[in-house]
Amino acid sequence: MSGPPLLELEGVSASYGPYRALFDVSLSVGAGSALALVGVNGAGKSTVARVVSGLVPVTSGRIRFDGVDITRRPAYEIARMGLTHVTEGRSVFSSLTVEENLTLSFRQALGRREVPAALERAYGAFPRLGQRRAQSAGTLSGGEQRMLALARVLVVRQKLLVVDELSFGLAPVMVDEVYAALGQVLSAGTSLLIIEQHVDRALHFADAVVVLSKGRVVYDGTVEGAESRLSELVLGRVEQ
Ligand code: ATP
Repeated sequence: MSGPPLLELEGVSASYGPYRALFDVSLSVGAGSALALVGVNGAGKSTVARVVSGLVPVTSGRIRFDGVDITRRPAYEIARMGLTHVTEGRSVFSSLTVEENLTLSFRQALGRREVPAALERAYGAFPRLGQRRAQSAGTLSGGEQRMLALARVLVVRQKLLVVDELSFGLAPVMVDEVYAALGQVLSAGTSLLIIEQHVDRALHFADAVVVLSKGRVVYDGTVEGAESRLSELVLGRVEQ
């Protein structure tokens, strides 16, 4: 970890009604670093993303972000502090063009005057979107829609980006593009919490790794330390 923790979970538990999804989860993401959160389906990875972004309340434990206790803060406040949660879902407006989608987001986040520069950065990170700027978002391929959703948030500088299964179901070339963009984001100073089915990809990219199993942390440490024990830790994982 290359800096002091930006995000810290301490003994976090969470439930969906009577179903307990997280048990005493502790982990941290260092400032300027990338943490990979891996585990089999249903291990609780997305639930971690949801508690961090305020979408699911914790039943016990504590979450700190950028020195502030955000445990019971509403999602919009957490977002305003610079923590963005990007999900696999295609959160784009289908009837608007690529450029209109981007312009809407950038205008809202950065103000009208910043829009041209932000568009340039977005097309720099995702040349494929530049080629399709006049195309309506609904007619983009699934992978391209994922890129558009990502471009909307990547260009607006965040402190922490929580990316949930962004490469799920994408062709390898698209995954490369997504990771190249995440690399740019990381070098621009945004920390990353990466939830990933492509375990190898995530481990290649990340500074540290946390493995979840049945809602509990079973490994928290270096990528090298996890690699040799990965099949034992992530038993039954989906390899693509
Ligand atoms: P995947 O890799 O399949 O996305 P995950 O590790 O992200 O899995 P979660 O989505 O966090 O796992 O789910 C953890 C557990 O909580 C699962 O057993 C899931 O069925 C359950 N769960 C998730 N969302 C809800 C919900 N809204 N209501 C009830 N149970 C839920």
